[in-house]
Amino acid sequence: MTGNGILVVVSGFSGAGKGTLVRKLMEKYDNYSLSVSMTTRDKREGEEDGVHYFFVDHRKFEQTIANDGLLEYASYCGNYYGTPREYVEKQIEKGKDVILEIEVQGALQIKKKFPNTLLLFVTPPSGEELINRLRSRNTETEDEILRRVQRADEEVEWIQKYDYLVINDKLDECVDSLHNIIVSAHNTPNRQQDLIEKIKKDLDLISKGE
Ligand code: 5GP
Repeated sequence: MTGNGILVVVSGFSGAGKGTLVRKLMEKYDNYSLSVSMTTRDKREGEEDGVHYFFVDHRKFEQTIANDGLLEYASYCGNYYGTPREYVEKQIEKGKDVILEIEVQGALQIKKKFPNTLLLFVTPPSGEELINRLRSRNTETEDEILRRVQRADEEVEWIQKYDYLVINDKLDECVDSLHNIIVSAHNTPNRQQDLIEKIKKDLDLISKGE
């Protein structure tokens, strides 16, 4: 993918507050585009098709995989989730930073395909806080909550693969630190290859006296 936008993966334990964090980031700063994923899971109350997810059945999901329509996909707690390719590619071309709010298996697939991807992992300040947040949002049964906590316990092992940890304690501060990390990431040498090559060319010419 070309263009000056970067791909930013935001992962984190279920209940870490990634959704709210990313929504606030989009409201406060305007250079971000949020990818809407495709999923086979049931719609939760208040969710809208095409806004929170594209809700599809297994057949449609598998067809999309077969047509190479997904940049990555993974199975999570019994359902498929995947990132539609076209939207992401178009936004990056336009110079937008594209946020993918996805789990760890998908994150690592993206990093392998696009090594300049920035990988961020959101965590609450403690395990107790995680379970409190999961219970208070009232969207899952106790069984589902337990599955998500067990999954979080496995996901801890993957955190070291990420570039930054984002601790979601005070939401507003967290939004700003997320934004600041992304802004800084634009200036790592691997994301500024064109500029470095241009400077090198200029310096070559100057040093030859041309
Ligand atoms: P939820 O069911 O709570 O909306 O999402 C469950 C998990 O799936 C979350 O960790 C979320 O980040 C992840 N997820 C959402 N969309 C995608 C996607 O397109 N690909 C992958 N790999 N994970 C996703």
